[in-house]
Amino acid sequence: MSKPQGSLYIVATPIGNLADFSLRAIETLKEVDIICAEDTRHARTLLQHYGISTHCIALHQHNEEQAAAGLIEKIKQGTSIAIISDAGTPLISDPGMPLVALAHAEGIQASPIPGACALIAALSSSGLPVSHFSFLGFLPRTSSARQSLFKEQLNTPHTWVFYESCHRIAACIEDLSCVLPAGHEISIAREITKLHETIVKTSIEKMLLLINEDSNMRRGEFVVMVSAKAIEKKPDSLSEHQLKTLKLLLKECSIKTAVSLAVEITGARKKLLYQTALQLSEDNQT
Ligand code: SAM
Repeated sequence: MSKPQGSLYIVATPIGNLADFSLRAIETLKEVDIICAEDTRHARTLLQHYGISTHCIALHQHNEEQAAAGLIEKIKQGTSIAIISDAGTPLISDPGMPLVALAHAEGIQASPIPGACALIAALSSSGLPVSHFSFLGFLPRTSSARQSLFKEQLNTPHTWVFYESCHRIAACIEDLSCVLPAGHEISIAREITKLHETIVKTSIEKMLLLINEDSNMRRGEFVVMVSAKAIEKKPDSLSEHQLKTLKLLLKECSIKTAVSLAVEITGARKKLLYQTALQLSEDNQT
């Protein structure tokens, strides 16, 4: 008689508070033959807390492509496997995709055991419209790439949401403030379900102040959400003060020097200052 096919479970784990773990998740992790964990040492704390002694192996971004075929073979031979990540729902900015994709290709059902997910928890408490949203995962690391991405999002007709680390949260909010129109509301969910949980919805300017002035607001884990409501592209022009400074400098210096000094003095974008300076000098010649 051929052995019955095993199962594949995608099990959500808590994102901070260990009590946010479903009875079915605990039961499943106790019953499967193997738990594939993003980091086995990290998983041990949770598993020990719930008296789960199932054999645990590592499945992370560096080995999951190669490991998937072997794991699917085991399932076909009757082994039951569960995937967990360090926190929240596997595959959501976490490992698991190659294994689940291969399971589908091989006609094996991947069964979710739902639970915590930072993006859903954050959206639900954000105070922003959330019936429709787009999730951007983690953002690019450079400021220019982030700003380009934000500009692309400006026409999105619904709330957008992304994950950010404590190392880049201040730079990221700064980048957002360069792209969003004044007064636009954003929401940040920090350290959800943990001791220092903070959920704030405010204007982009106030959020920038908050993050720059309160070092606690740069600690921990973050989900950032931006409302699509009434987003209008910032007019690509200099403020009155920036224009006045540039004009004064142009009276005394070359275009190149005037633009460099104006960048220093006003903080306006170099390209915009340069284009305006060229336009002003053309206007003067005609
Ligand atoms: N799979 C996870 C999930 O379902 O939410 C996300 C994993 S991703 C590698 C980790 C990122 O999720 C963090 O950098 C942070 O942006 C966000 N995150 C995870 N836990 C969080 C928490 N308790 N509060 C706020 N953000 C959290």
